[in-house]
Amino acid sequence: MNNAHEHLEITREFLFQLPKTDLHVHLDGSLRPETVADLARKQNVDLPSYDPKEVEKLLTVQGKVENLGKYIEKFDITLSVLQTEEALRRAAYELAEDAAAENIRYMEVRYSPILHQEKGMDLNTIVDAVLDGLQEAEKKFNIRTGVIICGIRSIHPETSLMLAELAVSYKGKGVVAFDLAGVEYNYPAKDHIKAFYHVRNNNINCTLHAGEAFGPASIHQAIHYCGAHRIGHGTRLIEDEDLLNYVRDHRIPLEICLTSNVQTQSVPSIEAHPFKYYLEKQLRVTLNTDNRLISGTTMTDELWLAVKTFHLSFEQITKVILNGFKSVFLPFDEKVEIYQKAKAEIFKLAS
Ligand SMILES: [Zn+2]
Repeated sequence: MNNAHEHLEITREFLFQLPKTDLHVHLDGSLRPETVADLARKQNVDLPSYDPKEVEKLLTVQGKVENLGKYIEKFDITLSVLQTEEALRRAAYELAEDAAAENIRYMEVRYSPILHQEKGMDLNTIVDAVLDGLQEAEKKFNIRTGVIICGIRSIHPETSLMLAELAVSYKGKGVVAFDLAGVEYNYPAKDHIKAFYHVRNNNINCTLHAGEAFGPASIHQAIHYCGAHRIGHGTRLIEDEDLLNYVRDHRIPLEICLTSNVQTQSVPSIEAHPFKYYLEKQLRVTLNTDNRLISGTTMTDELWLAVKTFHLSFEQITKVILNGFKSVFLPFDEKVEIYQKAKAEIFKLAS
């Protein structure tokens, strides 16, 4: 890239207009506060208040939480209203609508179907409801979506395998990958090796949350035991130079979520985040929201936070956005097409 855009002032409005991806966003962490309140009222779920403003205060992290476990506790409430087909369809539809409204052109939504069975829904009903909501939104808005099914570190590995089988059964029908989420400390990824073998053996992509609440050993396991094609967060990769070089050589994308990482104290402060170091080292870094409601963020906010904190140039922010398009779990031809389209649009907006 030349430096014709050297003096281009990057504003929040400009970032809002740019075509974007969000490759790491949890369905159950990204509801509208009004929707949580409305669903809770309709379903007789007890909440301290049904005022959307109060619900937002209750569910969005203010400042920091003690650790990742405390952050995950907030999902108890959102999950309690996501136990019906209609609620899941609505949550998925509205998430895609909100994403499209800030020019996210491609989003991969993740969730774990077993967390939606409190009222006895079967797994296929759950997956179908989410896919329905997303497909309905795709017809109305300028966005494409894919689903990532999550295994959970703290559940029995046989259950993860069952979820991996579920992901495989939806190959080509909207599910694009398998993930491992949940509390990292004390729950090693390698316990779930069978699930990941099953997914890869069926030529499906996988990504793993790793190096968020535990050190680089966790990232090492995600890559070498589970065959991760992308890494969720990877915040602590900086602590192992050899592994960092491997991730760099193999162009393994990092799904970085800045606000979330500060909130869960994966980093002591935003300034201390290794994001800029990774970017300058030419690792394939992407920026993502993680949880629009719990973290109180949007893709525009995440990019704006990066620009303000790390003083990114137009070239750098373009690189990060295009890394997102390069890292999507789509077949190669489709990936090239949306990448080229996004690139052309960005340079048009900047001219
Ligand atoms: Zn996550």
